[in-house]
This record gives sequence, C-alpha cells and structure tokens, in this order.
Amino acid sequence: MRAQLDQPERIEADFVVVGAGSAGCAVAARLSEDPATKVVLLEAGGEDKNRWIHIPLGFGKTFADPSVNWCYETEPDPGAADRRVFWPRGKVLGGSSSINGMVYIRGQAEDFDHWRQLGNTGWSFDDVLPYFKRSEHQVRGADGFHGSDGPLCVSDVEQHPICEAFIAATTELGFARNDDFKVPAKTAPATIRQRRATAGAARPRSAICGRRYTGRTCASSPRRLPSRYCSKAGAPPA
Ligand SMILES: Cc1cc2nc3c(=O)[nH]c(=O)nc-3n(C[C@H](O)[C@H](O)[C@H](O)COP(=O)(O)OP(=O)(O)OC[C@H]3O[C@@H](n4cnc5c(N)ncnc54)[C@H](O)[C@@H]3O)c2cc1C
Repeated sequence: MRAQLDQPERIEADFVVVGAGSAGCAVAARLSEDPATKVVLLEAGGEDKNRWIHIPLGFGKTFADPSVNWCYETEPDPGAADRRVFWPRGKVLGGSSSINGMVYIRGQAEDFDHWRQLGNTGWSFDDVLPYFKRSEHQVRGADGFHGSDGPLCVSDVEQHPICEAFIAATTELGFARNDDFKVPAKTAPATIRQRRATAGAARPRSAICGRRYTGRTCASSPRRLPSRYCSKAGAPPA
C-alpha cells in the first residue's frame, strides 16, 4: 500500500499506522526495521515527555491528566447505580502503555485456549506463547515461559515485607504459592513482581504527534512532514 497524506503538505509512505499505542508502536517499529520501507505513525496525543510516564507507578499522576489521557467516561451503568465510570485511556506517544500500571501480564492461558476451541486457529496458549517469549527481555533470563532476547524489558520489583507476610499467611492457609503469575496455574496468591517499559520506546524513527512532528522521516529523506494532520472523522486531533 502506498498511502498519501495531503494538505497542507504531502508525504508518501508505504504504511500509515494510526495510533501510537501499545499495538501501533510495535507494528510501526517492526515495519520500519527495513530502512527501505517508509512508515508514518500518527498519534493524536503529544510526545511522551511528561516525567510521570517514566517513573514507576507515576500512573497515579497521569490517571486523570487530560494532557496525556482521553479521560473517557462510560455510559451510566445500571450495575453501578447508574453512575458513569471514569475510563482512562492514553492519549500520548505510547498510548495507554504510557499511563498504565507497568505490570507485565499476559492473558489467562484458559482464555486463549477457549478462543482456540471456538475455532480460532493459532490462538491457543501454546500457539501464542512463542510470541510472548519472542517479545520479552526477561532480565532473570529465559525459561519455558519467558524470553530474554526481545525488545520488551521485564524486571522484578522489590518485594515489600508486608506483601511477603501476606503471601506467607495465605500459604499457611493451604494456598499454593505462585511466584510467577504469567505461568499457567490454578488460583494462587501472587504479588505483582514485574514491570515493563512503555511502548513509546519502540516507536519507529518517525512519529507525528498531535499537531507536531517529532523525529526524522522513516527513511532517510529530509523532506518535511506535515505540521498537523486531519483525521478522517473531521476535526484534527486536539
Ligand atoms: C490506567 C491504566 C492502567 C493499566 N495498567 C495496566 C498494567 O499494569 N498492565 C497491563 O498489562 N495493562 C495495563 N493497562 C492496559 C494496557 O495499557 C492496554 O490494554 C494497552 O496499552 C492497550 O493497547 P492498544 O494499542 O490497544 O491501545 P492504546 O495503547 O490505548 O493506544 C491507542 C492510541 O491511539 C491513539 N489514537 C486514538 N484515536 C486516534 C486517531 N484518530 N488518530 C491518531 N491516534 C489516535 C490514542 O491517543 C492512543 O495513543 C492499563 C490501562 C490503563 C488505562
């Protein structure tokens, strides 16, 4: 595909990825590994310069910050006495991965297996596990469930003594201890032990954020990129 952005300036790209969130950054980064391929990544939000994005658990500060967050609300929910529920989503380079809790977690193995049972070939846990492993850089090293050569750095966090005491209490009650909740297991107490980096770190060399352009063009062309772009829905992103 050769897409074009027009008005007021014009650039050409082989691929246009809309939304520089977890998925968009990963897709754009992979596509742009080939220097001959021109990839443009469009992001409605701004650059990921807010320091709280890069500080572990800074998500308490970005949770309701409209400069990096769409700050959605649900429709009135009958299950919550018709209240609207606040629904944060990232509006910044890295998307929701820039404002999330930094917990590296995968879906339940049983859910993947259920999707496969429904007829979705290639979606069982055993099918997707190689991709999880390939994307992960587990600092403890590789094993049957973890990879160490991928771009997504995952490290353990320091265990608070109170958490450790809580886990010890549950094991005294007979629950099996689970030190790695990415490993398929029956219900077991586990503390959050790992964190990750934001997807914004995986962006390609070019990203157009909100009304501003950051970085260089995807290929080596020095051509100027648009200073703003319009979404198909009409208004340019705020
Ligand atoms: C507060 C919070 C805490 C979370 N904590 C965790 C956690 O600890 N562990 C975990 O695994 N997951 C967590 N999540 C969930 C996880 O971050 C998301 O599931 C994941 O980031 C979603 O990725 P995505 O690519 O689907 O969307 P997003 O990462 O949200 O990316 C979508 C991007 O598209 C952009 N966009 C939208 N419309 C347009 C448009 N028209 N033009 C251009 N750009 C557009 C948005 O601005 C955004 O940047 C959390 C999420 C939130 C909000």
